[in-house]
Order: sequence, then C-alpha cells, then structure tokens
Amino acid sequence: MKKLLLKGGYVVDPSSNLKGKLDVLIQGGKVVKIEKNINAHDAEILNVEGKIIAPAFVDIHTHLRDPGHIYKEDMLSGSKSAVAGGYTALLCMPNTSPPIDSPETASYIREKSTRLSLCEIFPAGTLTLGRKGEKLSDFYSLKEAGCLAFTDDGSTLRNSDLMKKALEVCSELKVPVMNHCEDPVLAKGEVNEGEISALLGIKGRHSSAEEIMIARDCILAYHTGGHLHIQHISTSLAVEIVKFFKEKGTNLSCEVNPYHLVFTEREILRSGAQAKVNPPFRKEKDREKLLEALAEGIIDCIATDHAPHHTSEKGLVEKSLPGMISLQTALPIMLQLVREKIITLERMIELMSVNPAKIIGLAERTIAVNSRADIVVFDPEKEWILCEDSNFSKSKNTPLWNKELKGKVIYTLKEGKIVFRDPQ
Ligand SMILES: [Zn+2]
Repeated sequence: MKKLLLKGGYVVDPSSNLKGKLDVLIQGGKVVKIEKNINAHDAEILNVEGKIIAPAFVDIHTHLRDPGHIYKEDMLSGSKSAVAGGYTALLCMPNTSPPIDSPETASYIREKSTRLSLCEIFPAGTLTLGRKGEKLSDFYSLKEAGCLAFTDDGSTLRNSDLMKKALEVCSELKVPVMNHCEDPVLAKGEVNEGEISALLGIKGRHSSAEEIMIARDCILAYHTGGHLHIQHISTSLAVEIVKFFKEKGTNLSCEVNPYHLVFTEREILRSGAQAKVNPPFRKEKDREKLLEALAEGIIDCIATDHAPHHTSEKGLVEKSLPGMISLQTALPIMLQLVREKIITLERMIELMSVNPAKIIGLAERTIAVNSRADIVVFDPEKEWILCEDSNFSKSKNTPLWNKELKGKVIYTLKEGKIVFRDPQ
C-alpha cells in the first residue's frame, strides 16, 4: 500500500500530549512515523504547511434519515457531509422508519456503512420498541448487531420504571443509555418559553421541561450505576444538576450541540424556522453557562445533532420540524470559540474527537506510532461559505446557510485513505 506523508503541518493530539510542527508518515492504514522533516521519496506528499493535524472527529448524535426519510438525507450524503466536516465515525440516531429497534435494521446500517466505506457509521438502537415508550427493546440482540448505545432520541422515555430498567440492563452490557431530556407534557411549545415566545405569540417550551428530566435521569443513574449520557444539554440549571451528580460520582456524561453555544432564543427573530430546534435556543445566561461548563469539563463532548429537513418542512415556525444540519458547520463554530479564547485548541479536539470516542467505546483517538490513521487536517483561518457548491447534505436547513464561515477541513483520512479533499 502506498505511503502518505503529511508535510509541514502542526500536530495537536490531546491523547498523547503531542503538540508541534511535525511530519506524519502513514502506511498500511496506520501512522508509522512522527518526526520533524521526514523524507520519504516513495510516498505521496500532502503539503499541509500552516494547517492543523488532529485525530479525526467522532459525532455521537447524527440523524441520517436512512432508512425511511431519504429525501432529507441518506447514508451516502450523510457520510459525505461527515467527512467534509472532519468526521470519520458517527453514531446515527434510531428515529428512522422503521426505527432501529431490530437487529435487521441495525445490520442494514452496519452493512451499508461498510459498503460505502467513507465514514464508519454505528447505529444507536431504540430504548423502546417503535420508540413508543411502552416496552424495552432487546438490548442484547441489538448490541450483537452493532448498536453502541440506546436512545429514543426525538422523544423522551417518560416512564421512570422503564428508564431504570434500561440503565440496569445497559450497565451489564457496558453501553450508555442516551436520553433526549424534555418532559413531553411540559415541552409542548415551538421556541424557548420567555419574552421571545410572548413577543411572537407562540407557545414556548419551558426550560424546566429539560431540567426535570435531567434530574430524574441523574437520580436513576446514581442509584443503578448505569452509564447515562445526556443529549444536547441547553440550560444553566441543567449544567448545575449535572455538576452536582458528577461530584457524587455518578456514571454520567453529557454533550452540547455547537449551535447552542453561539445562538440564543433571539435567533428565531432573525432566522425564523431555521433556528427552531429541540431543546430550543435559550437565554444569554444559559449560553454563557454552557461555555463555562465546556471549559471546566462539566460538559464532556460536542455532538452535532445533525438533523436534515426538506425545505418544505421549514416554513412557519409553528408548523416546522425542529433541527438543523451541522456536520459541516461544527468545526467553524468551535474554532470561533477557540479564537475567543473560551477553550483551547487541544480542548476542542478532546471535545470533538477523544471524548466522544470514549463515550461510545471506540478505540482511543490519537496520532501516535501504530495508531489507526483517522486524521483530520484543517485550516483554522480559511474562509468559506456554506452554499449549494460546498454543501454535501441533501438538506440546507441551518441559520448559517449562505453565511461566511471561518475554518475549513482540507483533508480527512480514514485508515490512511483520503476520504475528503478540499476541492480548492
Ligand atoms: Zn434530541
């Protein structure tokens, strides 16, 4: 197999504490040498002068809409968006049609992922059959078929007894239970409940809907010892609750969606339905708390919650489906936080690569001799616009559509193979 040499880049690897201007030589899908000024005349040389070389990203919250809603996205278009965003592994959510509640559907995902051979895709299985919240899925057979976590994402598992049992069984299986935490009775509105919902005359979703569910789930995780992973945390009090239970030694991790770090409820005034998401964008004080928690380590990882929808599903705020595409916008958003000195570049890579891999039990993400060459090379200064020409998703629902972004993936390597190359 041909050798590949990344020449002149700046390596940042939080796993091995490696940082510096180093060349990286790759052969047979693995990193074989990391040194200053490597000469290898038999290798294909990629000049990455001035670029950052890091372990490729892992997204543990992706909606690929496949099977069932492939007019919005499918595994191929989703994989292309992923590698263009620097990701080489995804955990896809099971709210498909049919939902991923049987080994057959889970195997469909694994087989198609292997066939496409672009980005590794692992399924999350449903917590309950049909995501109906009534009967637990067969976690054993789903795990056997490749599921790395369980969630009814999109909906909350409201039945506390089932949630407790799920945590108990998943604790034996050593896989995380992920919950979209919003009490469905309280969370019936379209935007955050507050002055903006009042101004627009739209029913709001109160932040307590999220906080109540997070508190319940933390209590159940505390008692059962099962690994609870909280999806898309968004409020200040929710952060306090997580902090409290982490300090008590609860087996707990949590993610934040990049958009919640840069937008507030006011974005709906500017972007309309494109800024509708569940849980909704909150207040500035919530956003500030999330940033603090990100830097302090209370929040463990970034997860995109990439949620493609067709243009016809994004009209009036009240009638639109929630969610936005984000596999290609996560890096520029996170780099903005690095430029603002809220987090360091090392912390960003930990949040987007090292920690999410750990949460779902993938091999350590690192750039070390003998490690698998899953690598992202990005230019933190490059400006670009997310538009028809640069977008790989089938959908274009994001408040950042046609906006100028800063920070671009130049190469993505999966097992030493170039799966994305910036066309410019
Ligand atoms: Zn969700």
